[in-house]
Amino acid sequence: MLGSDNRNIQIMKFTELGLNESLLKAIKEEGYDTPTPIQQKAIPLVIEGKDVLAAAQTGTGKTAGFTLPLLERLSQTKPQMKKKQVRVLVLTPTRELAAQVAQSIQTYGKYMSYRSTVIFGGVGINPQLATLRKGVDIVIATPGRLLDIAGQQGIDFSALECLVLDEADRMLDMGFIHDIKKLMAMMPKKKQTLLFSATFSKEIKSLASGLLKDPVLVEVARENTTADRIKQVVHHVDKGRKRELLSQLIKAGDWQQVLVFTRTKHGANRLCKQLEEYSGIKGAAIHGNKSQGARTKALADFKAGNVRVLVATDIAARGIDIDQLPHVVNFELPNVPEDYVHRIGRTGRAGMKGEAVSLVCVDEHELLKNIEKFTKSSIEKVDIEAFRPDPSIKAEPIQNGRGGGQKRGSGGNKSKNKRPMTATGHGKKKKSSNAPETKNDNKTPENKRKKPKNPQAEKIGSNLQAKLDKLDKRDSRNNTNTRNRKK
Ligand code: AMP
Repeated sequence: MLGSDNRNIQIMKFTELGLNESLLKAIKEEGYDTPTPIQQKAIPLVIEGKDVLAAAQTGTGKTAGFTLPLLERLSQTKPQMKKKQVRVLVLTPTRELAAQVAQSIQTYGKYMSYRSTVIFGGVGINPQLATLRKGVDIVIATPGRLLDIAGQQGIDFSALECLVLDEADRMLDMGFIHDIKKLMAMMPKKKQTLLFSATFSKEIKSLASGLLKDPVLVEVARENTTADRIKQVVHHVDKGRKRELLSQLIKAGDWQQVLVFTRTKHGANRLCKQLEEYSGIKGAAIHGNKSQGARTKALADFKAGNVRVLVATDIAARGIDIDQLPHVVNFELPNVPEDYVHRIGRTGRAGMKGEAVSLVCVDEHELLKNIEKFTKSSIEKVDIEAFRPDPSIKAEPIQNGRGGGQKRGSGGNKSKNKRPMTATGHGKKKKSSNAPETKNDNKTPENKRKKPKNPQAEKIGSNLQAKLDKLDKRDSRNNTNTRNRKK
């Protein structure tokens, strides 16, 4: 049975939510004093120990909506931890989101005493096993790697007090449901469970009903997360002139930090190279073919302002959280309208204003229509005189890796698994870097069962992987936040 959240949202300060002084001090240092709506609703419920089903998108402040009260709960008792035990487990769909949650815990828990660690694939497993062996208060993990570890008896869930499923809809989209169910079966029945999801499909509801006990439903309005704060604009432009227009926009607007989306990994690499070569604009690419070390570095360079442009595919961008990111550009429109919403949600976060620009060529008119239908809004079209499209250019089907983005035929991509169209046929998956990145690609580093077909590639791949593993081991040691500081 789903209880509803009848509390009036009147609390206006963090000090009124029941959080301890250490947390309040850290929140204050972050410059926040008013909790966002999801935080106002979720924090007291989580502190009370209730199961919560929260409908909240990224950008609403949902992460602190569970990290803050969980830290509060952890501070209230201090059980003796045994080897491999864990008190709080947060499952996330992507490594980036796991790192973001870990960062949130580190930020708010900096005056508390606890041990936390991040577990994900694509990096060496041994340092992760070693950290878990000591017993950890909070584990933030992606399901695939955690299941591997659990299969090796590397973690003991018997003392688990709370389980959080963050972006549960994404986890299901990415095919993690079986991993999640297997993990669930290893956990004690008596525990608090929190489920966060942007959407509530039948599958999510069924997962929730099997997992949550008398949950309280917490919702925050979805509309004002995009429409109100994010200025959206479309510039119609020929495919072949998109790069030139993007350079001009960046230079003329003096944009210092811009996240650019391409459909393909190859397109991301190429755009990055060309921006630097032709316009002297420094960029970094982030996508599923990049090692975790390279992705972490690209993101760090972007956050530090060492590169002005981060070019990303949809999968890689999921979970990226950059404070006050002002500009998002759709260099190519996504095939799936939901991805448009996720993309532009990277800007305009937690009350900040943002701008989302889409460069749309003739091939993409149908995709634009689908997006407008999906978002139930018409996006403002602004023509830039010098870049007016040539009317003699006719729409073409999507060419992989060559910009554009129209699916073959008409109408939206209605396929259930939302696999994007490719030039080789409906929903047929290609594994080259030209292929649009699909949700399952993100599992690649975690899925050791997948073998490259070409033995030479395997050899090169494994040499490279060994080097990356070395790098990643170092990264993961740095990621592992083991804190013993006294309160
Ligand atoms: P999230 O929805 O968890 O991805 O958070 C989006 C952004 O909101 C992050 O950059 C947070 O640092 C920021 N944020 C979280 N809580 C608050 C708050 N109470 N006031 C302003 N910004 C916040």
